[in-house]
Amino acid sequence: METQEASPAKSHTSRHKCSACYKQFKKKEHLIAHMKVSYHSVHQPKCEVCYKHCKSLESLREHLTGPLPKANCSSIFSERGCDLCLKLFDSQSALIEHREICCLPAPRPFETISVSSTDSPVHTSDPIDEYNHDDRQQERPKAIALDCEMVGGGSDGSLDLCARVCLVDEDENVTFHSYVQPQIPVTDYRYEVTGLTEGQLKDAMPLKEVQERILEILYNGESVGKLRLDGGKARLLVGHDIEHGLDCLRMNYPDHLQRDTARYCPLMKTNLASHSLKYLTKKYLGYDIQCGFHDPYEDCVSVMRIYKRMRAQDHQLEGAKVSTLLDDGHNLLRNFEFSNKELEKMSPDELYEISRSNYRCWCLDSKCAL
Ligand SMILES: [Zn+2]
Ligand SMILES: [Zn+2]
Ligand SMILES: [Zn+2]
Ligand SMILES: [Zn+2]
Repeated sequence: METQEASPAKSHTSRHKCSACYKQFKKKEHLIAHMKVSYHSVHQPKCEVCYKHCKSLESLREHLTGPLPKANCSSIFSERGCDLCLKLFDSQSALIEHREICCLPAPRPFETISVSSTDSPVHTSDPIDEYNHDDRQQERPKAIALDCEMVGGGSDGSLDLCARVCLVDEDENVTFHSYVQPQIPVTDYRYEVTGLTEGQLKDAMPLKEVQERILEILYNGESVGKLRLDGGKARLLVGHDIEHGLDCLRMNYPDHLQRDTARYCPLMKTNLASHSLKYLTKKYLGYDIQCGFHDPYEDCVSVMRIYKRMRAQDHQLEGAKVSTLLDDGHNLLRNFEFSNKELEKMSPDELYEISRSNYRCWCLDSKCAL
């Protein structure tokens, strides 16, 4: 396949090669068809050796580390690439220095952090929020991570009931933590996983109050009924399978303010199924979670760290291009709104230029308000 790479593009023997993923096609129309469904963009994970675009970080990982890696890329990557964030460094010493900050220790267990009583909710105000006058910081929507532990209800114990909830801010402070009084009788405490017992839930906070506290934190003074389109001061809700958590809490939160590590394309399997948070934490942060009882604080911290890594990605949105790239989340259907005649005339590079992502990249959260 790669032998044709050097041949002139216009030669009649040459194939039509995708500028992003390097796939080759005998006919131009096949390349166009490929481009229409590939959603290549500057936001896709890329190999820093050959610049090939990949569908997900998982496919980039396969490209770099196997089981059947690209030989040249993998040999360079194995010398000075970070197997957590998949970035490439100039030297081995730069890589070693980077690993110090990239590979994180597991968060301390919830029981050991400074919470006076786990039964009374913790609400630490965010001093940065109140005293920060840096305009650039103000623009960026702030995120809150949410995680729930579920116990079982119903005759077979398969109905998920939220029994414990934790909210953590961007600096890993607990914004809210509470046990939750079950709405219906608990038939399975799932003790091996949750570590929860009847006694902990008996006098816990009623669900309605929990909902109010969470909404208060998330909306952060914005009106629940008339939330501004840009979210205003409302928080981005970060979590793993947020919908399920919200379902169990019997709550809603606007989709465009949710950042879900189970639904974010770059973090999904190549077949677009979700990874577990345990897997993502191990692969992208370098430590184990959920080894004993599940700790919603530990899950919150992990999900927040993954979100912040994804948000910090540098996708080189320079100058004028930023405005069009910001359309990504809102104009997904505009992808390839051109006639076939127009498309036939375009070069592979031009086809790539008009291609847009089919998801809203989290790097955009760091560049502007929603
Ligand atoms: Zn392609
Ligand atoms: Zn991006
Ligand atoms: Zn490569
Ligand atoms: Zn790294």
